[in-house]
Amino acid sequence: MNILVVNAGSSSIKYQLIDMSTEKVLSSGLVERIGLEEGSITHKTFCKDEEKKTKEVFAIPDHTVGLKRVAELLVDKEVGVISDPSEIKAVGHRLVHGGEAFTKTVVITDEVKAKVKELFPLAPLHNPANLIGVEVAEKVFPNATQIGVFDTAFHQTMPEVAFRYAIPNEMYTALGIRKYGFHGTSHKYVSEKAAGYLGNKNAKIVSIHLGNGASMAAVEGGVCKDTSMGIGPLNGLIMGTRSGDIDPSVIFYLVEQNGYSVNEVSKILNKESGMQGLTGDTDMRDIETRYLKGDKVAILAYEMYAYRIQQYIGKYAAALNGLDAIVFTAGIGENDTIVRSLVCKNMEYFGIVVDEAKNSVRSKEIREINENNAKTKILVIPTNEELEIARQSFELVK
Ligand code: ADP
Repeated sequence: MNILVVNAGSSSIKYQLIDMSTEKVLSSGLVERIGLEEGSITHKTFCKDEEKKTKEVFAIPDHTVGLKRVAELLVDKEVGVISDPSEIKAVGHRLVHGGEAFTKTVVITDEVKAKVKELFPLAPLHNPANLIGVEVAEKVFPNATQIGVFDTAFHQTMPEVAFRYAIPNEMYTALGIRKYGFHGTSHKYVSEKAAGYLGNKNAKIVSIHLGNGASMAAVEGGVCKDTSMGIGPLNGLIMGTRSGDIDPSVIFYLVEQNGYSVNEVSKILNKESGMQGLTGDTDMRDIETRYLKGDKVAILAYEMYAYRIQQYIGKYAAALNGLDAIVFTAGIGENDTIVRSLVCKNMEYFGIVVDEAKNSVRSKEIREINENNAKTKILVIPTNEELEIARQSFELVK
């Protein structure tokens, strides 16, 4: 059975077609620059270990045109992998904000769509684009069951003591202002893998997802107890372009004393802060090159980045009253040996002692990089959000 995983953004659609009998990716691709003068579709197929890649450049006025072309590519004689779109049994959609309404993966109905719409104010950048993806997929793949996998769902198990903000109660009850958390699909996937690796389903795990966006989760017995992002994705760790935790007074200071508009402050904190704000670079590989050359700006930024993660490990060790493993994942967590090394430095109190020889090994496999007799395991686990979305979708249609 084939499942198509769709991640629709405001001007892009990422997709993967996965054969659930083998969990192999048959095809993947990216529709980009939707609505602009010149769009493109990069489409890859993987057949018998052979990879084929095609790129088409043309004006893609809207998501419907883009996804229709993807459907054609999937059945194309040259670059296709299936003979008819009806071979796709389900489309699993990544939906960013499920609020308190969605605690697990659901089959998308009119009621679900209405609820996702109601949640637009909580995720104005993501939910509208995600919903367009659903509506377009309904048209293009009418025989497939549409399924919604929410980034927030895994975190819905957080206890109230962790998810509430200490602001007037009615702001929670009337406006839904609370911590929701994101990257849930990834935290769920890697924390389950970690528990499997440890052979302990009750393990106390701190999952550290470090991509362009970054967040951490405290997980015990497969259940999320706390996470670092909040009502939106700005809270917590230092990210590529987001500040993570700051004193909210900074916002008032910028607006009231320095004449910034709220929109400008939002842009600064979301797009111009984090590693970008500290170093002028967003991509960690560029900052790493500078770090290795002894660039003081890059060194400070790396140290701040790691220090924030260490603080969250401390918080979550407290929340869990113990720690069996920390898990590094996503682009930076899986690849950046310096970040891992800095995070694990001076953390003996938490049983965290890195083995630098193991840390420097590059591999796509799940691996352990702690010293042999260290109390807490340090694991590197490649995340796979698409596979997790496909698995959860499969559960509902098999
Ligand atoms: P997202 O899915 O949030 O866009 P990714 O998980 O792909 O992000 O992570 C992107 C980040 O991973 C970028 O900052 C990139 O520099 C970093 N990254 C990828 N490969 C490496 C590497 N080999 N070394 C260091 N950082 C890397």
